[in-house]
Amino acid sequence: MTATTGRLGEPQFDLFTLPDEHMELRGVLRDLCEKQIGPHAANVDEEARYTDEALAALTSSGFAAIHVPEEYGGQGGDSVAACIVVEEVARVCASSSLIPICNKLGTMGLLLRGSEELKKQVLPSIANGEAVASYALSEREAGSDAGSMRTRAWLKGDEWVLNGAKCWISNGGHSTWYTVMAVTEPDKGANGISAFVVHKDDPGFVVGAKERKMGIKGSPTTELYFENCRIPGDRIIGDPGTGFKTALATLDHTRPTIGAQAVGIAQGALDATIAYVKERKQFGKAIADFQAVQFMLADMAMKLEAARLMVYTAAARAERGEPNLGFISSASKCFASDVAMDVTTNAVQLFGGYGYTRDFPVERFMRDAKITQIYEGTNQIQRVVMSRALLQ
Ligand SMILES: Cc1cc2nc3c(=O)[nH]c(=O)nc-3n(C[C@H](O)[C@H](O)[C@H](O)COP(=O)(O)OP(=O)(O)OC[C@H]3O[C@@H](n4cnc5c(N)ncnc54)[C@H](O)[C@@H]3O)c2cc1C
Repeated sequence: MTATTGRLGEPQFDLFTLPDEHMELRGVLRDLCEKQIGPHAANVDEEARYTDEALAALTSSGFAAIHVPEEYGGQGGDSVAACIVVEEVARVCASSSLIPICNKLGTMGLLLRGSEELKKQVLPSIANGEAVASYALSEREAGSDAGSMRTRAWLKGDEWVLNGAKCWISNGGHSTWYTVMAVTEPDKGANGISAFVVHKDDPGFVVGAKERKMGIKGSPTTELYFENCRIPGDRIIGDPGTGFKTALATLDHTRPTIGAQAVGIAQGALDATIAYVKERKQFGKAIADFQAVQFMLADMAMKLEAARLMVYTAAARAERGEPNLGFISSASKCFASDVAMDVTTNAVQLFGGYGYTRDFPVERFMRDAKITQIYEGTNQIQRVVMSRALLQ
């Protein structure tokens, strides 16, 4: 019986082990995140301020947009590498992990379907850290049902003119480039939606006020308004009418990244909890000595390990260019985010009353975990995607 790399049991059997370069990447990131990002996480959350230190640290080290291919000035990091970046950053500060998350989300449609000229216009500035990107699909009345969006785009001469509003846009106001979905042919439903790239300085582009949120407070979430917003004709991604497909194909590639964020948040909470239960004494001994506590830790770690494997599997399948990514991509995001909510809630539980205060990081992890069950499609919508794939 042979495995891909050798006989079962021989040392080179490397299934379910990350390659050395991924392990090294994790090591470098662990160090960078603990020294340069983690120390600011509580303050970023408390003041709901932008993650300036994380942006500087990730940009100078080349980790803000590791996925950008080398031909556009990037590092060409694969999907698993992109997940490791997000996971390690989220382990110390979920808000900061929105920087690499949004850079991938905001450029994936362009990478998948954009023209060479448009890629050359946009991607180098993101690769070198001059710019960050956002993805604008959702609207006030079109969330889960994103296909019912109302933002319109008309071709006038050699320009597109956009009108309407997007909401809940992560990194709104901080991004230079926005991938925006808008209706070009209203009578064609989802096949009448097109994808565009909007620059922050385009005339008629306006950023709204910041939302006041439960978590990821260091990542601004805003509305975007398009008031006769004029953009050059060549800023369309792919052909007119393909925008909704591009938006969904983007999510197939980026939902594992949200899964990675969830895994990172859960790992941060688990690490803090393991340290705490060894220190905290009740009934004359460390609470880690109680079997009820030990079993909670075991369950947390067991679920986390399963989530991590599913996320890397989904990312690897996306990287291999497998078709029909919908099921595994949704499953990885859905499972990992449910695990993150569970693990962080139990982390607060194991800290007792102290866990309920801002003196310890676990309440922040719990608030931050919640969003992973909501964005890039709620977990109900992930289950809709999964069951459709099963029944088709
Ligand atoms: C902090 C934050 C950041 C975000 N960032 C971005 C971003 O960068 N870009 C972007 O485009 N969007 C972004 N979003 C939007 C996010 O993707 C949506 O909030 C999400 O898709 C849900 O849409 P909704 O809020 O309108 O909820 P609704 O669609 O109104 O859903 C409300 C409830 O109904 C349930 N529901 C709806 N339809 C069904 C159904 N068919 N079956 C079962 N249950 C259903 C939902 O699961 C949910 O529980 C962000 C949101 C937040 C809160």
